Amino acid sequence: MECDKCDRDAVMVASYSGAHLCENHFCASVEKRVRRRVREDSLVPRDASPDDPDTWVIGLSGGKDSVVLTHILDETFGRDPRIELVALSIHEGIEGYRDKSLDASVELCEDLSLQHEVVSYEEELGVRMDDVVEKDPENMAPCAYCGVFRRDLLEQYAEELDADKLLTGHNLDDEAQTALMNFLEGDVTQVAKHFDASIGGFEERALTDDFVPRAKPLRDVPEKEVALYAHLKDLPAHITECPHASEAYRGEIQQLLLKLEENHPGTRHSIMAGYEELAQMAAQQYRGDGDENVELNECERCGSKTGGTVCRKCKLVEAVEAV
Ligand code: SF4
Ligand SMILES: [Zn+2]
Ligand SMILES: [Zn+2]
Repeated sequence: MECDKCDRDAVMVASYSGAHLCENHFCASVEKRVRRRVREDSLVPRDASPDDPDTWVIGLSGGKDSVVLTHILDETFGRDPRIELVALSIHEGIEGYRDKSLDASVELCEDLSLQHEVVSYEEELGVRMDDVVEKDPENMAPCAYCGVFRRDLLEQYAEELDADKLLTGHNLDDEAQTALMNFLEGDVTQVAKHFDASIGGFEERALTDDFVPRAKPLRDVPEKEVALYAHLKDLPAHITECPHASEAYRGEIQQLLLKLEENHPGTRHSIMAGYEELAQMAAQQYRGDGDENVELNECERCGSKTGGTVCRKCKLVEAVEAV
């Protein structure tokens, strides 16, 4: 089959759009979608300048999504003096998994001559995920601990690196899954928070000084296309899944969405189009009467922001240490 734009062989067919694209035109179309998202979400502030650049910290796990995001952002902004890019990797302490993906991250940042910071649970919190899983003091899924730790460390380091934005590699499938999960859980405040936290454009969001705002420039690109892009560009991405991956509900939703997409191409795009509009309305409605009004304190132990006196991360670490 030929490419729609030239006479080379197509490497992919997008059933949701009917497009057939060759390697070059496919890669260009992925890059174009990321750049359009950066523009539409107003990620580059109007007043960013070489004297006062906007600092973007990229959460780089070494998996295909964050590797592709880092690569495209570096191609687009690597020589733009208004933007400073820094990659940040978290080492959870999961035997046989994170070491390899960290190697991929190191290799990528060396290739791109990008500043790269690595933070580990062990050094920062004194616990490794492997120990947490073994002790499991709260009787929770591994990801429930890991998510709290990761969020806290990303936030802490983004602040230390003077980040204006924290960018993550969530793709279209990830976001459509989250959207559907929020619907199915019937949690409209969660939908509202999702808008202000990461999916609204920077000109429509209510931003607070409490947290470094997030953005997901890869969220228009389906997972399969991210994987194909990483493969075609021969990027050093690590593919193995974390052995503790345990978000069972998300897995069910993922299967459901893949099935729907197969029978009704375009489902993920239409979910997100409707969801974003609803999320914006929900955000406007719920702003100011949720817990964002709660004064945040500094955690007594670590100084992170928390609604109470000791943050969730410190409580979890303490529970693990007590076993
Ligand atoms: S899958 Fe779960 S345990 Fe593994 S790195 Fe991700 S959040 Fe952590
Ligand atoms: Zn072509
Ligand atoms: Zn704390």
